[in-house]
Amino acid sequence: MQYEFAIRENGLKRILRLLPGSACFLALTLFSCLVSAQQNDADRARMIQEKMAAPNPLAAGESLWIEELTYLEVRDRIAAGYTTAIIPTGGIEENGPYLATGKHNVIMRSLCPAIAADLGNALCAPVVAFVPQGNIDPPSAAMHFPGSISVRDETYRALLDDIASSLKQHGFRNIVLIGDSGGNQRGMAQVADELNERWKGSGVAAHFVIEFYTPGWEATERYTEEELGVAETRNDGYHDDIWVTAMMMVSDPASVRYEQRVEANLASINGVMITPLEDAIELGRKMVEFRAEYGANAIRRALDE
Ligand SMILES: [Zn+2]
Repeated sequence: MQYEFAIRENGLKRILRLLPGSACFLALTLFSCLVSAQQNDADRARMIQEKMAAPNPLAAGESLWIEELTYLEVRDRIAAGYTTAIIPTGGIEENGPYLATGKHNVIMRSLCPAIAADLGNALCAPVVAFVPQGNIDPPSAAMHFPGSISVRDETYRALLDDIASSLKQHGFRNIVLIGDSGGNQRGMAQVADELNERWKGSGVAAHFVIEFYTPGWEATERYTEEELGVAETRNDGYHDDIWVTAMMMVSDPASVRYEQRVEANLASINGVMITPLEDAIELGRKMVEFRAEYGANAIRRALDE
């Protein structure tokens, strides 16, 4: 007991004796920490500046997808006037026995670059694959079926808001929101309104282009019937039709199970044959072309307003 106290007292005395020195040492450490933190900040800022000013050592990539370009290529495109960014929204949902759940995403893979090419000064953000598909638990709508993935309305809006804000941060001036699926539209409209309110006076604008979806879809169906002579003659009762099928085949015939359907003698949808392969892909290509021009025109009008 006595001994223990003595040690403790000794220890205390030592601490007290060292205290002014320690305090001084602490203050010095704190000061030098602050100085080196400032130095680190300056170093970091210089490093970022250098990276941003670095010339591209390579011939530039050709893609219109931001995710397929390097940061130098994106920088140079923006500087060259590619100041429109398109955020395409897709979805993952039940689409009957033939079509992969990523239907809308697969279509957007062909469609978005075609729209961007038509505009001539636009790049595509990655397809937003996660969209509202109904209540998760208990399930509603597509969520009754395996493979469908839903996000809550607020998750979807937060995702779009952050993607659009990121694009604005890097110098895109017009952020365009388009969606291939019905459930995507309302959230995009709301986010565009919120962003424009927040971005007032910044010279940057968000544009939700509803015309791409409606009347864009109806116009495309009319085009295939009237111009291409392709019309559905019956309803197989699936969440599927010749329009989505043909456009998916442009991106990837396997996404509509082309080979398996030929083998199973199920190579048609709603009365329209999808054989031969080249003809179906050509139909899809013409539809993509039509929708791209239609979408690009709608975007041009929205940007002019
Ligand atoms: Zn859909």
